[in-house]
Amino acid sequence: MTDCLFCKIAAKEIPADVVLETDRVLAFRDINPQAPTHVLVVPKAHHANAAALAAADDGLADDVLKAAHDVAVNDGVDASGYRVVFNTGPGAGQTVFHVHAHVLGGRDLRWPPG
Ligand code: 5GP
Ligand code: ZN
Repeated sequence: MTDCLFCKIAAKEIPADVVLETDRVLAFRDINPQAPTHVLVVPKAHHANAAALAAADDGLADDVLKAAHDVAVNDGVDASGYRVVFNTGPGAGQTVFHVHAHVLGGRDLRWPPG
């Protein structure tokens, strides 16, 4: 997609603090972190949201979830606990319409979130 921020980050046209990369997935630190670990995991292919990613039905959603766990392990937050969030739709706070998993950890995380 030509005018998509996360497509541009995935294509390395816009810099990001990349922490993990595979052939189909990129993970990079959120520019406005809400926790000591706050990483965004995106498929390199453009899908607008979690529903579209799930419908892709080519194992890409698995890759994103596995990468989210690898990020948590690499940041040392897997044992203490971490949260994986897909804000889906504007009413849920989605602002970038290229699906991304937020991986949050490194502090106490209250439930439910606001
Ligand atoms: P959403 O609100 O769509 O669930 O999450 C979008 C996230 O992208 C936000 O947490 C925001 O801080 C992050 N973000 C927005 N622009 C950039 C950017 O240019 N670089 C990085 N690394 N994160 C960004
Ligand atoms: Zn995109």
